Amino acid sequence: MASMQSFWPVSHRDDDFWVCMSCLTEVFYRKVPMPDCPSCHGVSTYEGFTLEAIRDWGTEELIAKAIAAEEAAASVQQAAETAASVEAAD
Ligand SMILES: [Zn+2]
Repeated sequence: MASMQSFWPVSHRDDDFWVCMSCLTEVFYRKVPMPDCPSCHGVSTYEGFTLEAIRDWGTEELIAKAIAAEEAAASVQQAAETAASVEAAD
């Protein structure tokens, strides 16, 4: 998909992983796609889960996606922190 996907940031809950309950093939970390699911175009189909819960019932693919999403979010945050500390050092 070439078009830019937009997201709502969601970070006020303990359930950090947001899974589309309609297609069960999309999962995002601390954000949900807007205006709809990029796979099935369902609206308001996302529900929050912990990674443990996803490991319990998710497919291998969904679990792998969840882990990759968390790692991507962590590296973005790390890059932001590195940039901030470089600025502070100047
Ligand atoms: Zn979906």
